[in-house]
Amino acid sequence: MEVPEQQTEFRCSCGGLLEVVHDFSHLDADSLKQVFKSRLAERLTPTASGVWRYKELIFPELPDEHIVTKYEGNTGLYESNSINRYTAMKQVRLKAQSENPSGSFKDNGMTVAVSHGLSLGYKRFTCASTGNTSSSLAMYAAMAEANSFVFVPDKDISSNKVLQTLAYGAKVFAFEGTYDDGIRFLEKHSNQLNLYVCNSINPYRIEGQKSIIYELAQYLNWQLPEWIIVPGGALSNASALGKGLDDLVELGLINKLPRVAIVQAEGASPFHKMHAENRDQLQPELSPYTRASALNIGNPPSWKKAQRTLKRTNGVTISVSDEEIMEAKAVVDQSGIGCEPASAATVAGLRKLVARQVIDQDESAVCILTGNILKDTDILEEYHLANRMEYAALTLGTIASLVV
Ligand SMILES: *Cc1c(COP(=O)(O)O)cnc(C)c1O
Repeated sequence: MEVPEQQTEFRCSCGGLLEVVHDFSHLDADSLKQVFKSRLAERLTPTASGVWRYKELIFPELPDEHIVTKYEGNTGLYESNSINRYTAMKQVRLKAQSENPSGSFKDNGMTVAVSHGLSLGYKRFTCASTGNTSSSLAMYAAMAEANSFVFVPDKDISSNKVLQTLAYGAKVFAFEGTYDDGIRFLEKHSNQLNLYVCNSINPYRIEGQKSIIYELAQYLNWQLPEWIIVPGGALSNASALGKGLDDLVELGLINKLPRVAIVQAEGASPFHKMHAENRDQLQPELSPYTRASALNIGNPPSWKKAQRTLKRTNGVTISVSDEEIMEAKAVVDQSGIGCEPASAATVAGLRKLVARQVIDQDESAVCILTGNILKDTDILEEYHLANRMEYAALTLGTIASLVV
């Protein structure tokens, strides 16, 4: 089924999710590389954004005046000896989407979804969220002087994320149920409520999230590593990654596909289980639970798109326990890079895949860190406060004996 760009229909009559289709036939790799490179020197123009830098591949038709941007993307790529050691790899790099303006990779997609909504004349936006999507939406809606109405489960989410959402001025509704219930409600009623839906069922979110792989490729001089590791919740990141990789190959910007590993938290791992049990239909989990709240999703809407990513890239799935996530998070935090629990699932997953000899220690890998270290201070408090902070009298004698 085909729908015009002016519509906000996100589902096909067959029940699957729609996607944006581009015609890249008039584009050539060398001129694109030149344009993308020249934009790295821009400041305060829409294309200074790490998403809109790639506008030709994301939303070429959108007039610039509708773009609402906070120069998202443009995030760091790091290497750390301690993470190499922890995963037993020779070379791991971390792409820190946690450095986005609202603190998570959701900004990569949200700038595009909100801009699309604005171009259609919407002034009221909505999402269901475990907290990062809502923070991101609330931020862009505020920048555009529009309203946001967000739905969050009433338990097992991070209060930092909800407070951030409220602080940007969103109206927040807590409901009894899971993220999956929230999505179902919005899919059914958003049209009647005249709200523009900014969840990742919205294909414009996926278009924006493709920029993560474009930017990684550009920073690595169009040579991608052998493995890319992403966490899997709603599976939009994994979907966008595959679509972006397809674009890069189609355009001749890269000539070899990396393999993709999708890491789920054990307590919310319907996609991994489907693979482990060799099934071709996803069995939703009715009461998912993981302390990595951004992964607490039992019925990932984008699982079919993520499945395509895996097939195209000869990818793998794995699940990790909350203990493994917390241990990996402590290593990432102490490396100075830092991330929220859901992001550390990638490092924990990589370590496990190396131990199981799925990934060889000589291969190159990039883990996508999705959210910021301050996104869940309850978890930090629990992990550190009791045993880390030392009370000390401010006298030279005391301090000199402690600074060792
Ligand atoms: C949303 C989110 C995820 C999960 O990404 P999906 O695209 O839903 O699979 C992982 N980590 C963080 C920090 C997130 O905000």
